[in-house]
Amino acid sequence: MPTSTPVAVTPQTIRMAPKVLLHDHLDGGLRPRTVIELADAIGYPGLPTTNEEELGRWFVAAADSGSLERYLETFAHTCGVMQDEAALIRVAAECAEDLAADGVVYAEVRYAPELFTERGMSLDTIVSAVQEGFRLGTERAAEQGHRIRVGTLLCAMRQNARSLEIAELAVRYRDAGVAGFDIAGPEAGFPPTRNLDAFEYLHQQNAHFTIHAGEAFGLPSIWEAIQHCGAERLGHGVRIVDDIKVDENGSIHLGRLAGFVRDRRIPLEMCPSSNVQTGAAASIADHPIGLLTKLRFRVTVNTDNRLMSGCSMSSEMAALVEHFGYGWADLRWFTINAMKSAFLGFDERLAIIDDVIKPGYAELMGS
Ligand SMILES: [Zn+2]
Repeated sequence: MPTSTPVAVTPQTIRMAPKVLLHDHLDGGLRPRTVIELADAIGYPGLPTTNEEELGRWFVAAADSGSLERYLETFAHTCGVMQDEAALIRVAAECAEDLAADGVVYAEVRYAPELFTERGMSLDTIVSAVQEGFRLGTERAAEQGHRIRVGTLLCAMRQNARSLEIAELAVRYRDAGVAGFDIAGPEAGFPPTRNLDAFEYLHQQNAHFTIHAGEAFGLPSIWEAIQHCGAERLGHGVRIVDDIKVDENGSIHLGRLAGFVRDRRIPLEMCPSSNVQTGAAASIADHPIGLLTKLRFRVTVNTDNRLMSGCSMSSEMAALVEHFGYGWADLRWFTINAMKSAFLGFDERLAIIDDVIKPGYAELMGS
């Protein structure tokens, strides 16, 4: 029997709900003010503006522009100012604080260490600095009354040939907060099978990994990521809808790959706003997340790049509520899906679901 009245689902109340984020890029989530201050500190030239509001708008507009060149320019600026330890510590600490203030209780934040070596930092120095930043940020968030746990994923860039080295780095730091590994960067021309030695190594080490697949590229990249590389989760995976047919009479047919993904409960790290920006989906209302949720795939909601998409976990969920009519039960389902899919021990996942997520939503649902 309900003991209290349900709270209305609004952008403000969604912030209060416990949320879990599995796909968020460290270099895609800086505060505009931090970009400006770090650029100033290290003498980084070339920011389009040093006005905080204008810069925030510039990042979103450039990522929205449909031009790959301008999209890549956004990351050139963020990575450009993350080339020393102090910068990495600050960016990671602020990331933890921002996510915690938004109601995220567990996050896996990813980055490619090889992008921060321009001024001579070693890969080990980079990983240690990021971990220190997350430790600091988690501590500061706790002081402000927000409990968050953050794990990191180390990405190897598809176009470079360093995936085994980065996979070894991820394993070396797995007891220090690195939860897993990922392959990022352009899908076209760089199939995940180019990195088989890294995946083989990770399997032998009982380590976790996800792969960016099925965003820009279609079903073959999803198939390769799962069946050749053995990915546990799919970064985006949007194009899995290409293997689902909806007849005029509304009956739905899953192809073999889509069936496999659903049967095996392979988590889809979906990032609605980002997918609209890159053209992987026409709009939020048209995003395959609606159909995939209806079909009970293991769907999770994510931010991808908060700075470039001008979004947060709460705003992504609010957009889904607006366009698909979701309520608390749906948001809780996405959240539990994500927690079940985290690269964290079973007992720890269960503890967060039972002690944090379920009570948090029960309070909002008035039960
Ligand atoms: Zn991504």
